[in-house]
Amino acid sequence: MLRAIYPGSFDPVTYGHLDIMKRTSKIVDELVVGVLNNNAKMPLFSVEERVKMLKEVAKDFTNVVIVPFDGLLVDFAKKMEAGLIIRGLRAITDFEYELQMSQTNHKLEPDVETMFLTTSIEYSYLSSTTVKEIAAFGGEISQFVPEAVAGMLVEKMKAKRRV
Ligand code: ADP
Repeated sequence: MLRAIYPGSFDPVTYGHLDIMKRTSKIVDELVVGVLNNNAKMPLFSVEERVKMLKEVAKDFTNVVIVPFDGLLVDFAKKMEAGLIIRGLRAITDFEYELQMSQTNHKLEPDVETMFLTTSIEYSYLSSTTVKEIAAFGGEISQFVPEAVAGMLVEKMKAKRRV
């Protein structure tokens, strides 16, 4: 049984993340999407909101579960009995950080391997950060995120403008 972890902030989940989830779910028996609960990153959405969005967009996958986590990724992987970490690589700019992370994780826990999927070309430019910037200025985001996520993003931006 091959269980993998796909960790990230998913603040919010985009079509790029969904593409990695879809492709990985065909390769592994079970995919655990690990939602990082790290307030130091000052996420726009709470971990509960991010989990809720992911559960909605992943509801049609039969072998994908959404689980929040904090602390070390390798500890989470051990706890979930997953021997594989999946990360997406968009561009060369992702590479240095990802290389360092995967080598560090391998030092910490040699039984856990990291594998990378290169982004599908149509999503290689896409990041949660740019989607949030577009939404903050009232731009059209439906081509970047699933409908349910777009709705929550618009509501969140309205609420932020009110405070
Ligand atoms: P983190 O804060 O850990 O970078 P993200 O939520 O930004 O988390 O991303 C989680 C993972 O998804 C990372 O491996 C990242 O490279 C990948 N990813 C992000 N956006 C895309 C995209 N457009 N296409 C493919 N992979 C992506």
